[in-house]
Amino acid sequence: MVKWVYTFGDGRAEGARDLRDLLGGKGANLAEMANLGLPVPPGFTITTEVCTFFYENGKSYPPELGSEVEAALDYIGGLTGRVFGDPENPLLVSVRSGARASMPGMMDTVLNIGLNDVTVEALAKRSGDERFAYDSYRRFIQMYCDVVLGVDHHHFEEMLEHYKEIKGLTLDTELAAEDWKRLIIAFKAKVLEARGEPFPQAPREQLWGAIGAVFGSWQNPRAITYRRLHDIPANWGTAVTVQAMVFGNMGETSATGVAFTRNPATGAKELFGEFLLNAQGEDVVAGIRTPQNITEAARLAAGSDKASLETTLPGVFAEFVRTANLLEKHYRDMQDMEFTVENGKLWMLQTRNGKRTTKAALRIAVDMTQDGLISRDEAIARIDPASLEQLLHPAIDPYAERNVVATGLPASPGAASGAIVFSADEAEQLKSAGHKVILVRIETSPEDIHGMHAAEGILTTRGGMTSHAAVVARGMGKACVSGAGGIRIDYAKGVMTASGVAFNKGDILTIDGTTGQVIEGSVKMLQPELSGEFATLMQWADGVRRMGVRANAETPQDARVARKFGAEGIGLCRTEHMFFEGDRIIAVREMILADDEAGRRSALAKLLPIQRGDFIELFEIMFGLPVTIRLLDPPLHEFLPHSQAEIDEVAQSMGVSSEKLSRRAAALREVNPMLGFRGSRIAIAYPEIIEMQARAIFEAAVAVKKITGELVQPEVMAPLIIAKAEFDLIKARVDATAKAVAIETGVVIPYTVGAMIETPRASLRAGEIAETAEFFSFGTNDLTQTCMALSRDDAGSFLGRYVARGVFAADPFVTIDQEGVGELVEIGVLRSRKTRPDIKLGICGEHGGDPASIAFCEKLGLSYVSCSPFRVPIARLAAAQAALHRKPESQA
Ligand code: ADP
Ligand code: MG
Ligand code: MG
Repeated sequence: MVKWVYTFGDGRAEGARDLRDLLGGKGANLAEMANLGLPVPPGFTITTEVCTFFYENGKSYPPELGSEVEAALDYIGGLTGRVFGDPENPLLVSVRSGARASMPGMMDTVLNIGLNDVTVEALAKRSGDERFAYDSYRRFIQMYCDVVLGVDHHHFEEMLEHYKEIKGLTLDTELAAEDWKRLIIAFKAKVLEARGEPFPQAPREQLWGAIGAVFGSWQNPRAITYRRLHDIPANWGTAVTVQAMVFGNMGETSATGVAFTRNPATGAKELFGEFLLNAQGEDVVAGIRTPQNITEAARLAAGSDKASLETTLPGVFAEFVRTANLLEKHYRDMQDMEFTVENGKLWMLQTRNGKRTTKAALRIAVDMTQDGLISRDEAIARIDPASLEQLLHPAIDPYAERNVVATGLPASPGAASGAIVFSADEAEQLKSAGHKVILVRIETSPEDIHGMHAAEGILTTRGGMTSHAAVVARGMGKACVSGAGGIRIDYAKGVMTASGVAFNKGDILTIDGTTGQVIEGSVKMLQPELSGEFATLMQWADGVRRMGVRANAETPQDARVARKFGAEGIGLCRTEHMFFEGDRIIAVREMILADDEAGRRSALAKLLPIQRGDFIELFEIMFGLPVTIRLLDPPLHEFLPHSQAEIDEVAQSMGVSSEKLSRRAAALREVNPMLGFRGSRIAIAYPEIIEMQARAIFEAAVAVKKITGELVQPEVMAPLIIAKAEFDLIKARVDATAKAVAIETGVVIPYTVGAMIETPRASLRAGEIAETAEFFSFGTNDLTQTCMALSRDDAGSFLGRYVARGVFAADPFVTIDQEGVGELVEIGVLRSRKTRPDIKLGICGEHGGDPASIAFCEKLGLSYVSCSPFRVPIARLAAAQAALHRKPESQA
């Protein structure tokens, strides 16, 4: 026989916290508190299986449910000495909903069920407090109408306000029994008018009405949406808890409140909460009156003149402190509790693990470990790696005032203020003049990279979460708001309009990439820091993690951030990003547009010292750590000059006519550049380019060795490889250059040459390529594009639908598609290891900073992950969790 109802109360319960799936979170924890001997009003929980039954059987109940509920009501009656529905000595109950996972959007609680025109008299007589009884009854009518009967609460609130106005009263507590009686008559008339039938007087009808409303609310649109957003399966169902009422509205020794065992904002070890005397249910949260602090310390800190619980009801306070400590020890986590005091007696109504900010989560995890309450491994497991993002970027002071003029997508977290500029060049100019700038564009393209580097933040009016601006900004760790469609930009006039306000070039603007807000003027910011508990937890994570964590970085600034955040090397230095800066693009264009090797070599001669200088700076910052440098990769197409002015500029520098150069540029334009002249194809066609790059690398390494005595470990990487023979041609050039530099300088630099695996063919042929390649890095951005034949830059317009309709569980450019792309990676791993068992294998690209993808990399036993500098701490923690997950026996 299935058991549908579980009772609790008086120091014991039929359920316990491990029956959460059956009893819901609230019901399971009430049972647990009863088992612990804590003061919990007795009650019972109708299981989630009844909810499932209800929907599988045309909204009907299991036949035995009625008698099980009656028996449970008797059980409560036995413990409280009252009888449900009895006119002389009525038992009143609450009906509460509770799913496995906390779920806003479900039915609200109904209190005081069982009250009617007769039992309210009995309640008045027994309590000796008529005002209290009628206050409870009117609350019941209001709640029941709102939640069960669908009569809007505004009606009642308006009537109440109107009544208070006439009587010249301000607070609800000032109304006497007679006032409530009058209002109740009016309330009931309103119900009759709205529904065509009177307010239900029969307690059992009230009870089943409320139970039915809870089960019904499981399928209301709000709840369905919430479940969809949080991946909660519909077949989990909700439980219903029916519980004897205790009253916080019985006068000045009664109260209701909520509290956390620690401060949920800071994590400080202090009881944190609020209460209200002579109040019921969630009056505290509803903000009807200003609540009072629980502790005296909090009252003093807040400068409140309302007495604390500690001084008002010291006995209750002492018991509450004991209870809070006990619950925290028992659950081994910070608790969020709800309680009521009835005539000086404390009753516990709910406990659960409390929600907290990331900052608080770190402090609590570290404190609890140091107090011996949890192990280090548990502390590591408790922090959501993605939540660290909050702490890694400048944030707007939460207390600062914001004048929001537009809202777009929260494309890259963090906040930034600066002067508005409308082009990448302006961004650079103003930046070099010492100003902070916000780059505002309709959309961005690879040519804007230098401006994006110069800017504090990027704002676009078009494009989604995977637009160029969004992806590049995230990679750079810069704030970005994309797709702020409410803003109009007029490039010609140098003005943008938002919310009817015109902003000119140079005006100060703030963007919040965490919320998508665009704010007028500058706002106070808080800077990120890896210190205190954050640093401690990171150290612990490093102690258990197996995989290395590197960063994708090329600029000195990014490299410094990467080191500060604990990167163990650079996993991807994209040399072409260095090509867009300043005047270099002219030399780069010369190199591309030259029609013979001699022409290319003369342009390359200009680039060599620049590139060498870049590497020297990078190697100095990363001394002692490996640096993977990718040879030139992007479609040459991306570097071509567009405007006539740009063409003239390059032509002049090359000493050829603009016409000739235009023709050459036109010839280089491609229909499908992503599958065109890019990656190692450039190295094969124009080997002198990689010769120059290799020379810059080795000469820089020699220079750094000579200056600092430190050896850097360059790892030269060929991009987008498709065949072993191709790789070998490139490797031969690199080796020859290394040898030449060693002979010229007398310094031998140890280095390796490896391949970036970004095409299915390279994965399939990995065994063969590994014969000569000394390491592989899986470039899963391109590997996803080439595996799926989806362009990351263009997929934004339809990929969302693929996720919404369940084709993909997640955006494959954010979380690696383990089945498809993942299998290609696995094939590459297995085949390359067969040839070269100790081959160093890494992953770079956005997936390297995604916790789910990192777990997958751990499963494959990769040597390291590489991600954007700002995600390094996230990757360190995620890699630690993945390692713990792999061997769960490793409890400290
Ligand atoms: P929620 O899930 O929205 O927190 P609850 O079921 O916890 O809803 O109920 C909200 C509030 O109602 C509780 O915090 C408590 O103050 C009050 N409440 C619920 N049941 C009772 C009861 N049996 N006696 C007194 N107050 C109750
Ligand atoms: Mg609650
Ligand atoms: Mg690539």
